[in-house]
Amino acid sequence: MLIAENIAKIEERIQKACAVSGRKREEITLMGVSKFHPIEFVEEAWQGGIRCFGESRVREGAEKFEGFREGRSGAELHLIGTLQRNKAKTAAVAFDCIQSLDRENLIGELAKCAGGKVLPVLLELHTGEESKSGFVGLDELFSAAELALGFSSLRPRGLMTMAPFTADTERIRASFRLLAKAQKELERRFPPAENWSCLSMGMSGDFEIAIQEGATLLRIGSAIFGERL
Ligand SMILES: *Cc1c(COP(=O)(O)O)cnc(C)c1O
Repeated sequence: MLIAENIAKIEERIQKACAVSGRKREEITLMGVSKFHPIEFVEEAWQGGIRCFGESRVREGAEKFEGFREGRSGAELHLIGTLQRNKAKTAAVAFDCIQSLDRENLIGELAKCAGGKVLPVLLELHTGEESKSGFVGLDELFSAAELALGFSSLRPRGLMTMAPFTADTERIRASFRLLAKAQKELERRFPPAENWSCLSMGMSGDFEIAIQEGATLLRIGSAIFGERL
């Protein structure tokens, strides 16, 4: 089982990075990003110990995971890709967390669509030049945080970002540091700190740096499932 082997290798690297940076392994969730891969791969990752899954498209994620979480205690599906307003209802029903909350007009729409459930959300911050999505700067972020906290159907859980795609590790690190700093500011302005405890950062190419900078949720696709077709 190649996927289980991949997971074991990543697990080893996570533990090494934790040891190097004085972090506890239990603070960090390893998400399997299964976009463009079939449900059979998801099954294998589940067997390999992954409980949290990420999909970047609403319809693909909703269809693939239909029924998957029934009887699988602890299974979670998060949306990590851009959400169109007209898919907010589908997303609110099919996903356990929306990590890609990146515009104010999406906040009200999602809140309206939550349909009786309290939907965990992460605010996405733009921290690297190449990425197109996310709130830009702390002022925008604070304003979004205040808005999201005003809806009882949404539960802010923390922040998400994508570092720039570059070989320059210092730029990647700067991007993660910006997210960690934004988290500290949010904790101060909008307590309690639990609202902001999740730092979703780090992908296949940069998760060790993310761990060093405080990540609590790693979004790993290709290093678990192989290259996407
Ligand atoms: C695809 C994707 C990932 C996973 O990327 P890999 O480099 O394959 O690990 C993580 N986060 C987001 C937002 C993605 O779109």
